[in-house]
Amino acid sequence: MTATSNTGNAGGTGETGKTVSSQIRLMTPEEIAVNAGARPAPLRLPEAGVFAERALRLRQLAQDHPMRDYLLFAAEVAQRQHEQLKQARPLTLPNESDLAEAMAAGQPPLDSRTFARQSAWRDELKNLLQALVTAAVPAPVQALAKDLMQWDEATLERQAHALLSGGGPGLDPAAAPLLAAALQLHWVRLVQQLQDRYQRAGKTEHLAPFGLIDDPTVCPCCGSRPVASITRIAAEMSGQRFLACSLCATQWHYVRIKCTHCQSTKGISFRQLVDDDGKLPNEAVQAECCETCGHYLKQVHMEKDLQVEPLADDLASLTLDLLVGDLGLVRHGFNPLLILGEPDAGDDRPPGDDTQAPGPAHSGAAPPDPGGH
Ligand SMILES: [Zn+2]
Ligand SMILES: [Zn+2]
Repeated sequence: MTATSNTGNAGGTGETGKTVSSQIRLMTPEEIAVNAGARPAPLRLPEAGVFAERALRLRQLAQDHPMRDYLLFAAEVAQRQHEQLKQARPLTLPNESDLAEAMAAGQPPLDSRTFARQSAWRDELKNLLQALVTAAVPAPVQALAKDLMQWDEATLERQAHALLSGGGPGLDPAAAPLLAAALQLHWVRLVQQLQDRYQRAGKTEHLAPFGLIDDPTVCPCCGSRPVASITRIAAEMSGQRFLACSLCATQWHYVRIKCTHCQSTKGISFRQLVDDDGKLPNEAVQAECCETCGHYLKQVHMEKDLQVEPLADDLASLTLDLLVGDLGLVRHGFNPLLILGEPDAGDDRPPGDDTQAPGPAHSGAAPPDPGGH
């Protein structure tokens, strides 16, 4: 039985471009209970193909999509990240006592707000920009890349700080995707190199670098907010939900039906787009909404679509943000490719207090469009 309770009718453009979805559907408690497994599982650290998978998904989602040009731009950047990640770049890693200290404090060992960024991230950026300047990309992207090449070190560091603070004041939204791409590369390398060192060291190094930290709502490796969550299907992880880091792409286990902002387990509902015929144009993406604090985070489901990728699918489902936002809910996920006046990380405004609530739902704007469309 399909009890559909349509809870919004705010207009908007459908993700497919053809199936215009003007409503969202509230899941029944029975549906929510299905597969709501809560058995903990280990972290999933970023693998070598993390950016290639993202590029592939973005290209797939771009087909017939109203945001096609922007998704293709994002795919191009992800592909460049992949090419760059294949080149070795040794970084300075925290030592054993740094790790012990972080562990004792319940903090992530590579906290993006406190772990010193190395100049290597700016080298990553330089290489990315050089690749884009010579690539077959739209002229505005080339112009943006050329412009960023002129930015001095202090400006880049200020922008990086704003970005790593979750979209702090002064952040340039057009530059953010490219700066974030370089920072993502830097932190993926840090995570991978620290894990490699631990695995190679055998008995000489005893502390596993990554594990539980005090705050389960942020990345246990780098402390960043999630971009979205993903329910997985592979073997022992079947049906389990992981939060996906917006910076280092680590995925960490988080029980289902629990707010990722205030951790309430009450008043959680799931909403997804439904078209005028009552069909679900994109079953793989839902918004997990919290009545208690008024925030929501997207959830993507591998059991509905094997290829889902949290950052890519979040970007391509902006319509859901618009509709859920019209219900007064505030976006909790952080996506550096969707800087549209994000709420502060500590924003605890209650639902309804949205007269000036930021986020895609209230901006009325399109994403930054380096493609010039
Ligand atoms: Zn992370
Ligand atoms: Zn909440």
